[in-house]
Order: sequence, then C-alpha cells, then structure tokens
Amino acid sequence: MEALAPQLEGVKTVAIVGHVRPDGDCIGACLAVWNYITSWYPQIVPEVHLEPIPNIFRFLKGADQILPPDGAARQYDLCIVLDCGDAGRLGGGIQYFQNAGRTICIDHHISNDSFADENYVVPKAGSTCELVFGLLEEEKLTREIAECIYVGIVHDTGVFQYNSTTSRTMNIAGKLMDMGIPFTRIVDETFFTKTYNQNRIMGKVLMDSRLYLDGALIVGVASQADLERFEVLPKHLDGIVNQLRVTKGVEAALFLYETKPGCYKASLRSNGKVNVASLAARLGGGGHVMAAGAELCEDLEVLIEKICQEVEQQL
Ligand code: 5GP
Ligand code: MN
Repeated sequence: MEALAPQLEGVKTVAIVGHVRPDGDCIGACLAVWNYITSWYPQIVPEVHLEPIPNIFRFLKGADQILPPDGAARQYDLCIVLDCGDAGRLGGGIQYFQNAGRTICIDHHISNDSFADENYVVPKAGSTCELVFGLLEEEKLTREIAECIYVGIVHDTGVFQYNSTTSRTMNIAGKLMDMGIPFTRIVDETFFTKTYNQNRIMGKVLMDSRLYLDGALIVGVASQADLERFEVLPKHLDGIVNQLRVTKGVEAALFLYETKPGCYKASLRSNGKVNVASLAARLGGGGHVMAAGAELCEDLEVLIEKICQEVEQQL
C-alpha cells in the first residue's frame, strides 16, 4: 500500500478500529485517519470504535466522537485496523472487522499475521503513526492530524529514545513541529505527567520489585487490591514497566498486573539481548523485539518462574 486515498474510492462508510486497551500510538493513528477522512472526504462517514481512552488523549480532535466497540453489528464498506497485530486483539472491534465489505490493516508489529484483506505491515517502523504519515498526502496534513501522529510517534518511541527511532522518525517529527503543534505540551502532558495515585502505585511496584537471574531480570507486580487501593485502572499503569527497565544491570523487565483473580497481563521490555517478542509469542502474546506482552492465567510464582527460564535461555 502506497497511499490511503485509493483505498477510499467508492467507499461510503468506514469503521476505524485498534487494539484492546488502546495506547497513544493506537489512539493517535485511529484519530489521524478519522481526521483525514473527515477533512477531505465529506461524502464518507468514518467512525472510530475503541475501548475507553485515557483522559490525557482527550484533547485530540475527534476523541469525543470515539464510540465503544460494543454497539449493534453495523456493516461498513471498509474497516481500517490500526496498530493491531492479530484479530484476537481487536476486542469488541472484531464485529466491525468481520462484517465489513473490505478490510485493511496498517501496523508495525513483528508478530502481525496478515489477518486483513490488505496488510501494510512494516515491523521496523517505530510506530503505526509513522506509517500513517507516509500514507497521507503531505499537503493534506492538517494541524489536528499532525497532533494525532505526533502523539503516536512520541509514545511508541519513548519520546524518540528507543532504537526503533530513525532519522525518518525525526524528519517526520520535524515536519509536524513546523506545523505549529504544541509539541512540548504533548510530550509533557501525555507522556510524563502522572497523577498522584499513578505515581504512588508505581512507587509501590518499584519498592516491592524483585531481581532474578543475578539481576538480569526485574519483576514488578500490581495486584487487583493495589489497583483498588490507589483507585487506578489498567490504562493508568503505563510507564511502570519502563521504569523497571532502566534499573542498572537489568537485561529484561517484566511487569504483571492482575486483570481478574488469578489472571495477569504481562508487559515485557528488553534492553537489547533478550527478544521479548519471541518470548511473548511463546506465551500466546506478541509485540516487538524490545517491547511485548501477553495475557496469562496461572499461579503468579509459576508464571514468573516460566518467564525466568525463557529469559535465561536468551542470555
Ligand atoms: P504493553 O506492554 O505496552 O502493553 O505492550 C507492548 C507491546 O506488546 C505493544 O506493541 C502491544 O501491542 C504488544 N502486546 C501487549 N500485550 C499483548 C498481548 O496480550 N498480545 C499481543 N499479541 N501483543 C501484545
Ligand atoms: Mn504501536
């Protein structure tokens, strides 16, 4: 796929969907496409269906138009899937995908299994938003689209820090900055700022974290009781695994939070040696080489031991 425009020919209705627990890249990419269609294709009705998004992203244009993915099974001419590597992670969005006349997927997960009719998957791209930028005509980029794309790039590159950041990433970011977007505010308010309670739960997880494999693996856990105590939702736990990762001497970081009694969402991060994408895939999840995840229902200690063994094999 070289451009989004030809994909929209003859289309009247579009469902835009992403992955469960949408993050900055997913939300940015969905809203960038929504803003592009809304601005330049008045004859097309686009609808974004996503699970509830963190409030920090509410300033993006179109965020207030996002619909929950549990409505009546409407049929759309086209379903555009963004930042989602497999149909199993579409959550409630699956119904729009399955009922659509045609489906396309724009994504950068190495684990993407090409599940749509047309797949534009570039694993070496740092973010889906970077891919979306390449698919839109530059003269049709509005400030609102630029803000959405900038948010996605910032979040999936850890503010231009991860090694998925390329000179192309920086060039795109430069073009977006030239459009007058409030880039300082976007970075500060959507990436770094945490609520008091978010900081407190991060503090607790770090405080109780444990080192394994002679300090090569760090593990932090948040139980359902922790989430209740600090009155935070899973979508408020972003950043914890990254803080674990920057512990000196650590090769990999594992953050587990309890989704329901006995079940955990695992977030994995690597500092280079360990391929967490393949590790997560072996656990039924997926992601990128340096950042991946999975959902597992198993005894906590058994789970940690299993991941420990997987990491050890790669050291
Ligand atoms: P995070 O740890 O921030 O939730 O996710 C890191 C990366 O791994 C993201 O790119 C995300 O899409 C992917 N990922 C996280 N959890 C899962 C999962 O349960 N299944 C799959 N396939 N990918 C996941
Ligand atoms: Mn992404």
